[in-house]
Amino acid sequence: MLIDLRSDTVTKPSPGMIDAMSSARLGDDVYFEDPTVNQLQDRLAKMFGKDKALFFPTGTMANQAAIKLHTQPGEQVICDKYAHIYNYEGGGVSFNSGVSCKLIEGNRGMISSEQVINAINPPDFYHSPLTTLVALENTTNKGGGACWDFEEIKKIKLVCNDKKLGFHLDGARLWNALEEKSETPDQYGQYFDTISVCLSKGLGCPIGSVLVGNNDIMEKAIRTRKMLGGSMRQVGVLAAAGLYALDHHRKRLVDDHQKAKDIGRVLEGLKYVFNVQTVETNIVIFELEKHVDSNYFIENLKSKNILISDMGSGKLRIVTHMDYSEKMHEILLETLVSI
Ligand SMILES: *Cc1c(COP(=O)(O)O)cnc(C)c1O
Repeated sequence: MLIDLRSDTVTKPSPGMIDAMSSARLGDDVYFEDPTVNQLQDRLAKMFGKDKALFFPTGTMANQAAIKLHTQPGEQVICDKYAHIYNYEGGGVSFNSGVSCKLIEGNRGMISSEQVINAINPPDFYHSPLTTLVALENTTNKGGGACWDFEEIKKIKLVCNDKKLGFHLDGARLWNALEEKSETPDQYGQYFDTISVCLSKGLGCPIGSVLVGNNDIMEKAIRTRKMLGGSMRQVGVLAAAGLYALDHHRKRLVDDHQKAKDIGRVLEGLKYVFNVQTVETNIVIFELEKHVDSNYFIENLKSKNILISDMGSGKLRIVTHMDYSEKMHEILLETLVSI
């Protein structure tokens, strides 16, 4: 039995999801004629209280499209130094949109409204790039699955309104934050101009992300998606997985969070572990004691059929998910204690 904790993207479609996919009604979505895609988009737009939602193959493409919609070449995006859009999208912000990132030294991937204010270049100071967008991430990936304090988001929104900046949320794991903090999609829709959400992380779909926003900004989103190569045909077969996941896989995310918290607690009690970041959702980030070689530790776990990730700078990552069973959880905890 392989226990794969590298990411929550490793899940395979459940039998119920496969049934939903194989019985989906299909059409050509480039002609807007796929009823299942339309249903998924309508549902997400309503959930977030926005005019429109658009289906994308990946979260990266949804974020890249959003950044393109909010900016012009030469401009600048404010984000945390841990941001996925900066670290893990292949340099797409500069390649696709020709913009730079102003990186903020935040706390576990989260920044404050004061930091945003200080990072905005004065619009009349033509030597500096024009700041036009603030992009946040919830939960934070590199920040260890941390959830935002919604009050801080409200404050940043006020700054964006005042300075006429776009406000984008990379909500790849927003579903985890919503369940953990008992928040609603609608609440997020009220504050952000655009939100990307992944169906392929904790919700367990094989592929798929959705970008939501109002008509003013989303009108151009279809063209942007086309330019990025993301217009798809009978893609209802994937949208059906998304609809199924929204019905069946949201509430259970708290089980993943519980397991991650168990793992965090066990790691904290181990001699070879130097520290464990506070576990809020399904991501556990920890560091080993100086004298323990992290490569050796990872290889040792691998020899026991357990896979985890190396995040660099001595940080290791474990991510719990739908396909990580109770039985696997028992084996993992026993293994961590015994090695
Ligand atoms: C996974 C992830 C994405 C999107 O990744 P894709 O693999 O392109 O779907 C975006 N942002 C964050 C924070 C993520 O964790």
